[in-house]
Amino acid sequence: MRRRSALAAVTTLAGTAIAGVVSRPGGNDPLLAAAREGRDDIVTETTRLLPDTVHETTLYELTAPEPGPTVIVFGGVHGDERNGIEAAHDVTEWAPDAGRLVVVPETDRVAVENDERGGVDGDLNRHFPANQDPTSDLARGIWNAVERYDPDVVLDLHRSLGIYGFHQEYVGQTLFHSTDAHGRAIANALTADAVPWYLPFHRFTSQESTAGGPLLFQKAAAELDATSYLFETTAFLLDHATMTEQSRLATAHVLAAHGGLEYDTGIGVAGAPESGQESETEPDGGTNA
Ligand SMILES: [Zn+2]
Repeated sequence: MRRRSALAAVTTLAGTAIAGVVSRPGGNDPLLAAAREGRDDIVTETTRLLPDTVHETTLYELTAPEPGPTVIVFGGVHGDERNGIEAAHDVTEWAPDAGRLVVVPETDRVAVENDERGGVDGDLNRHFPANQDPTSDLARGIWNAVERYDPDVVLDLHRSLGIYGFHQEYVGQTLFHSTDAHGRAIANALTADAVPWYLPFHRFTSQESTAGGPLLFQKAAAELDATSYLFETTAFLLDHATMTEQSRLATAHVLAAHGGLEYDTGIGVAGAPESGQESETEPDGGTNA
């Protein structure tokens, strides 16, 4: 840690003792600047998904001048997880260097408007069984869009109330990912960027996830061969601004690792392949993820 960061961390720690909530511990401003300030010849188009229904929501398609990967980012699959919604809205203003960046900030719009986890048909992220039809109108509409784009990479932004491995049944501070993803390297980078030394339990972990589950990112991996991620931050000791910043950073790292940003994070297309085994666990479990 650089000296200035260390001093900032100590100052924040003093603040923590009083406030009990950590606000904006660190970040990676150069990476986010690269995401926000790329070329100015990005073409942005918007599409209405499930038009003229209660589920109608906006999809943003940002096309960069250079060829590259198609990356889809989802926020608001769970309507009360505001970090992912806000981060995804910010991402609609980004400037990728290559490929297409597709963003759906308010995936379950009824749930988002009600500030609740589930919408009309309950928890949307249980409606995507692999190799079967999605099990709700909303899930079918979302999946149609995913199939149309046939993405190389899918990222779904969430938050939990607790921390994976520390609070039973909670899955926060974890990057779940498909087999071919850069989960471990990105989790380590997020820890280096955004987790101060005095919050050791908030260090990010990565978990390879079985592709046969009913979650959107799992279906994308199983049926479309997409490299898929589900990001979970936590509301435990972190305020909204911090959770949102972590969600932005996760998105920028995924984008960079797969060639959507010309920024050397040392991960993925800009770095060496990962090695090592990770255990399999179910993400987004219970009713609290
Ligand atoms: Zn969630």
